[in-house]
Amino acid sequence: MTIPSTRTIPFFNYSALFMEQEPELTHIIKDVCRRGAYILQKDLVEFESRLAEFMGVKYAFGVANGTDAIWLGLMAVEIGSKDEVIFPSHTYVATAASVHFVGATPVLAEIGPDHMLDPASVESLITTRTKAIMPVQINGRTCNMDLLQAIADKHGLMILEDAAQGLGSKFKGRSAGSFGRFGTISFYPAKLLGCFGDGGAIVTNDDAIAEKIALLRDNGRNAEGRVVAWGFNSRLDNLQAAILNFKLKTFPDDIVRRRTIAAHYQARLGELKELALPPSPEDDPRHFDVYQNYEIEADRRDELRDDLENKGIRTIIQWAGTPVHQFHELGFTNVMLPNTDRFFTRCLMLPMNTVLSDDDVDYICDKICDFYRHEVP
Ligand SMILES: *Cc1c(COP(=O)(O)O)cnc(C)c1O
Repeated sequence: MTIPSTRTIPFFNYSALFMEQEPELTHIIKDVCRRGAYILQKDLVEFESRLAEFMGVKYAFGVANGTDAIWLGLMAVEIGSKDEVIFPSHTYVATAASVHFVGATPVLAEIGPDHMLDPASVESLITTRTKAIMPVQINGRTCNMDLLQAIADKHGLMILEDAAQGLGSKFKGRSAGSFGRFGTISFYPAKLLGCFGDGGAIVTNDDAIAEKIALLRDNGRNAEGRVVAWGFNSRLDNLQAAILNFKLKTFPDDIVRRRTIAAHYQARLGELKELALPPSPEDDPRHFDVYQNYEIEADRRDELRDDLENKGIRTIIQWAGTPVHQFHELGFTNVMLPNTDRFFTRCLMLPMNTVLSDDDVDYICDKICDFYRHEVP
């Protein structure tokens, strides 16, 4: 008989995160509402300039969500019908949908041992129609951009970055999102820098792309309010921007905390031969990882997950267990990605967030160690 657990460790604790800073956040919300400052106001302008500075890019534009960021970006660089865009199947369906909705063909690639887009797989998928490579800076890690840039240069392709999960991560000192013609960020509440609803950003160093994005996200209106192009309404709410402005100030501390938790998991679980852990914070000096997620590979993954659930520990299988190429309803019927298929029988995300205590991490590690040491006869 299983004794129900008295302890619960949620995968992500939205309310605890709010309550940690409730007085400051309430003050900000009241301030914005008392000013009636909702759309394209100073908090957004300030956030965009601080985000651009944080990422080391020339321009940042707040948009409605991370999905819009990708498809508006694709439109700005004029990806369209007959074009192919290569990206990993291990991503959110939004990456693929964005490519689909500009009329281009999503081409799905494998991931390598560090869970990032595999350069060899990318190269094998290039055709005369390929226009862009879109690395997904997943789990708070940036791809080896030297390898991908070399492939892009060799074949005359653009690099476009889905850095929805990558804010603050770096490769050779350069921020995720700053390598491509454009990069995109998501401020979904459980993302590294989360707002209180949907939010996203597009960043770029290119003046012409910046100009197009400014129009695309605001119904084609220029700085004087005159309509000069076709556009949509996809603006980051000023209220969300005010919240993000506040959170960005202490974001570097959040990154330190996430890296400490990753090191803690590494120290406690690194010896278990049944697991493959993500690269540790000190693994490779070229990579600065910020651990949006702590995604492991585990033997007997489903049993482990059930066991942890019974002990009050909530884990998640990314994308509800389905990489993009397995969505047959979306037309991916004959895509062979054996490495990704195998990965999705083994992958699991352990709790990873700034609300987690050291004691929580120890509890999780104790239960994982117990699981592998006590084989049911
Ligand atoms: C979250 C996410 C998105 C979409 O962001 P939303 O803000 O939810 O629209 C896109 N790509 C990846 C890899 C993501 O994790």
